[in-house]
Amino acid sequence: MQSIYTLFCEKSYDLLSLLTPCNAWKHFQLLQKNQWLSCDELCHMRWQKLKQLLIFAYHTIPFYRTLWQSAGIQPEKFTSERDMLDLPVVTKKELIEAQKNDAFLLSKKHGFEMAYTSGTTGDRFQVPFTFACYQKKYANHLRQVYACGWRLGMKSAAIHYSGHSQFKGKYSGRHEDREPFMSFREMALKLAHRRKILEPYNGIQTGDDTQVASWYEALMTYKPYMLETMDYVLLMLREYIERNGLQPLHIPKTYVLGTYTKALRERLESFFHTEIFNRFSPHEIEGVAYACEVHRGMHMAIDSYHVEFLDDNGRPVEPEKTGFLVVTDLDNYLMPLIRYKLGDLGHYYAEPCTCGRGFPLMGDIDGRARDLFALKNRSVVAPAKIAAILQDIPSVHLFQVVQDTSGNITAFVVPVRKPLQKETVVTIKNALHKLLGEDESITVIESDTITLEPNGKCSFVKQITP
Ligand SMILES: [Zn+2]
Repeated sequence: MQSIYTLFCEKSYDLLSLLTPCNAWKHFQLLQKNQWLSCDELCHMRWQKLKQLLIFAYHTIPFYRTLWQSAGIQPEKFTSERDMLDLPVVTKKELIEAQKNDAFLLSKKHGFEMAYTSGTTGDRFQVPFTFACYQKKYANHLRQVYACGWRLGMKSAAIHYSGHSQFKGKYSGRHEDREPFMSFREMALKLAHRRKILEPYNGIQTGDDTQVASWYEALMTYKPYMLETMDYVLLMLREYIERNGLQPLHIPKTYVLGTYTKALRERLESFFHTEIFNRFSPHEIEGVAYACEVHRGMHMAIDSYHVEFLDDNGRPVEPEKTGFLVVTDLDNYLMPLIRYKLGDLGHYYAEPCTCGRGFPLMGDIDGRARDLFALKNRSVVAPAKIAAILQDIPSVHLFQVVQDTSGNITAFVVPVRKPLQKETVVTIKNALHKLLGEDESITVIESDTITLEPNGKCSFVKQITP
């Protein structure tokens, strides 16, 4: 039975929807229904929304008009989604450049606020949202977290990375970091999400027990129903609890930013008495895909986004083959993101999910495109496949597989118990050679810590670029 407070929060959201511009709940109701439509109905809806967006962008956004005209494209002539393949793909860099040149005419618009992307490397990317569009994004967020069984009014907690815009630059020193409509967001998180935001891991190396201890204490005391965190955080918590012989945590549902293998996910689920869910939800495009209770990858929200998986030549890849993720946001008309290449790799499945949702399935993210290793045999191996080798070895606690600028590959391994066993080294080396090629130079080194990214995320697989 739902608590009175959940019913109160949902009723309040409903009233806000009727009486104020805070109408996320109305969109959420619609989105909830959409997910159970048939795939054909959803594809039809996507195409209608796509066509409308493309025609709008062509006639009102100089950036797209110029780009498409020079490619000889008129979206009015499009007859199906296949025609989308003629549109040039756009990168973050091109969008940043276009913003600088006011090619979205933002200087002539008002009533919007910016969302900043986490910006692990290079230029920051900011996407503007009107309040109305932000409500739709919030509705998308709600749909993905409701899929795990959490509802408004139930306790939740988050351990974000230190560069998360939630912290407004407190740890990163980048004080322009923020989410759009911050006061609205913070009030919703506090009152309706009952969100406890824990201190992020604030250091460059893993291995600081005091921070992990503070998470353990906070989670033990607060007892959230749902935790949102990152892949390496859960691994550090498990190791800390085991090493110190502490009472286990019971967290019913956990969202993890990152990709685990099935075996590791199941080990963590049993350790934390939790069910781990994945979702793909970058800041600028909230709720692109989310897991359901079946856990075969994630449902792509095709009522709100068009998602493509492309090869090097921009052609669609076959099901289950890794491709570059390219997303079109069907709702943001202020700064439309049309065939936006995110820099992430992914794959999709041809079969529908057994849960009955009409949304097609994509797999968990295969890694960042910039971390693709340059291999001597010229094959392309998804970073997640490299990480999977080490994740599946129970005696490995944390790790990082790095390819340096000379092409040499080193696996830094923090074992659960020191020293790292010789047999484990051989197992890792053999598996990496089998996956990456016999003529690669591969070294396995025991390490005490792993170096984190400047924004506080952990890259399990990393290509060092000159
Ligand atoms: Zn499903």
